[in-house]
Amino acid sequence: MPIVTTRCVVLQTYSYSDTSKILRLMTLDQGPRSAIARGALRPRSRFGGLIEPFAEGRATLYVRENRELDTLSDFDLVKERQGLGVDLVRFAGASVLCELVMRLAPNHRDQGLYRTLVSGLDALLAASEDRVEATVLHHLWRLVGVLGFEPHLADCLMCGRPIPPGASACFEPAAGGLRCDRCGAPGGLVSPSELAALRMLVSENAGLPAVDGLQRRMLVDYVRYHLAEGVRIRSLEFLARISA
Ligand SMILES: [Zn+2]
Repeated sequence: MPIVTTRCVVLQTYSYSDTSKILRLMTLDQGPRSAIARGALRPRSRFGGLIEPFAEGRATLYVRENRELDTLSDFDLVKERQGLGVDLVRFAGASVLCELVMRLAPNHRDQGLYRTLVSGLDALLAASEDRVEATVLHHLWRLVGVLGFEPHLADCLMCGRPIPPGASACFEPAAGGLRCDRCGAPGGLVSPSELAALRMLVSENAGLPAVDGLQRRMLVDYVRYHLAEGVRIRSLEFLARISA
């Protein structure tokens, strides 16, 4: 039975039997893994309070071939991130990041995805009150991009003409990008300033714009269409509701 020690983020936990916990982990070296932490719910468990969602640590796992479920034998906490649970929007954003990774991470090592997740969680923890929502949207868009679903915002999906700064366009989540005003706008036009904000949110290094309900709706619609594929992502619905 190979033993693996790897840095990881706890994505989700649930109780199993009266005393154990099942964990969904994103690991740095092995990609997503599920593991059982035996005895984690006992009062004096060595895992007590450590293996909570958003926490990062160094996990030692017993991996059995052809088994989906590893056994957690040790967990050295690196960062707990419980502060994310104090604020609803931070919590919702962190939950969506984790749920998307849980559902969509490829089944192998993906260090870029791991780093995107960790930098999103840390940014949410550090964001000042007035920038929490923009931080949530920016890091969700970054994750969408790293998962391979970045929207196309440079030119019109129909005619291919560039959509310059200062022009309006229609954002079409299902088509994965923009439609220029000449090609018609079944969904209504997005103003130049809203387009500029969207481009900043999607871009890696552009800084954070002011955001409003339209930015939130565009992200939620896009994720629903491209990444949820009919599966209800509970944390996304929660994010849409609490910030409405
Ligand atoms: Zn066009």
